[in-house]
Amino acid sequence: MALKTAEEYVESLRKLDMKIWMFGEKVENYVDNPIIRPSINSVAKIHELAGDERYSDLMTTKSSLTGEVINRFTHLHQSTDDLVRKVQMLRLMGQKTACCFQRCVGMDAINAIDSVTFEIDQKKGTNYHERFRRYVRYVQENDLVVDGAMTDPKGDRSLRPSQQPDPDMYVHVVKQNADGIIVRGAKAHQTGAINSQEICIMPTITMTEEDKDYAVSFALPSDAPGIFYIYGRQSCDTRKLEGSQIDVGNARYGGQEALIIFEDVFVPWERVFMCREYEFSGMLVERFAGYHRQSYGGCKVGVGDVLIGAAAEIARYNGVAKASHIKDKIIEMIHLNETLYCCGIACSSQGHRTASGTYLIDLLLANVCKQNVTRFPYEIARLAEDIAGGLMVTMPSEKDFRHPEIGPYIEKYLKGVASVPTEHRMRMLRLIENLTLGCAAVGYRTESMHGAGSPQAQRIMISRQANLDHKRKLARVIAGIEKED
Ligand code: SF4
Ligand code: FE
Repeated sequence: MALKTAEEYVESLRKLDMKIWMFGEKVENYVDNPIIRPSINSVAKIHELAGDERYSDLMTTKSSLTGEVINRFTHLHQSTDDLVRKVQMLRLMGQKTACCFQRCVGMDAINAIDSVTFEIDQKKGTNYHERFRRYVRYVQENDLVVDGAMTDPKGDRSLRPSQQPDPDMYVHVVKQNADGIIVRGAKAHQTGAINSQEICIMPTITMTEEDKDYAVSFALPSDAPGIFYIYGRQSCDTRKLEGSQIDVGNARYGGQEALIIFEDVFVPWERVFMCREYEFSGMLVERFAGYHRQSYGGCKVGVGDVLIGAAAEIARYNGVAKASHIKDKIIEMIHLNETLYCCGIACSSQGHRTASGTYLIDLLLANVCKQNVTRFPYEIARLAEDIAGGLMVTMPSEKDFRHPEIGPYIEKYLKGVASVPTEHRMRMLRLIENLTLGCAAVGYRTESMHGAGSPQAQRIMISRQANLDHKRKLARVIAGIEKED
């Protein structure tokens, strides 16, 4: 069976020859680095749940390519049911980790590239799809974690890739020969980059003919020569170096982003899935973004479940759980969170088959989903902070709490209701801090805003997909200006 255990996954990372920088230094053993390790644990959790019979029905499926049982994160969606199950799986993972668990970008990348390569071949007589399918089989058979990398640094946003003063602001082909291509550039804020065994690159915007060297998609092992990583820091990240369990809020799990540099990297033709077919770059961006905007209707909802639970718990610890305004705030949080889930499920159930056989979500509804994600988690976080109270950000450290002399004062004065230990109250407040202001806030707040595209990107897609002419016609018919067809 092509499934890796959590341990096998972690061991596979140790075998990679990764070039990683963090805090101005090269990181030698990144797997055991206390700042990085929680993000590895999140991806390992995916492997763990896939092997747990309580969750394996959701976390695994039968491959459409090999007929073997595979991790759903490597699956090409074969039905709208598959799309719905994906959202359910991501909600589950959000509930179990309370952070970004990173593997979805690769799943979204392989699904988008699958249908687009098929359509490029149909139009151009190329053979990208066949080689891409070989690649997906390889990923499935080895249960590989793939980083789907789209976002380029972009430089001056008013200029096209080919007009930039620095030609490397978008990943591009610098040379080509009989064996493959050489690429240069960077991909910014790449979720899960160093926790992936493979990196799968896509263009980040619609390209014109002048930009054709930038219309490139390919995959490489994450430790291929010429690739290196600069780790992104998060607020409160050095708390993880203190060895505290309470102060980090979420001691086991975390997210990860990195800047990936491609310094004249060789890609063999077998791993190239688009090379200068600029007319298809917009389609690839639209589909990948659509899948990832669907994803947020699952993952952020799962993290929201944890935050709502934490708010309800802290209300109890504070002795205010029965106050009507608190109950109402919790109801509002649930309402907002489930609205996001409705969007994720809706765009999945309204999906359709593409020419390659892989299913695509409804793009309008997926963009509406993500547009709501740019707003509702902020309101949910605001309500959680309201319920938690100011102690969430003024509380002393765990070291003070454990100190023989001053600890008893903290125990006494930070007590809420008598039945709840002070330590539980501190832990819950730190969890809320982590989700709303700390490391997990990267995933729950700013990533909700900018991940899978900033709000304006969805509004452009909503205006494109909405078929306003049809709505206009409906109005003209009802107003008696025009006859019904
Ligand atoms: Fe997955 Fe959500 Fe993280 Fe994107 S933000 S990689 S969908 S968990
Ligand atoms: Fe994301």
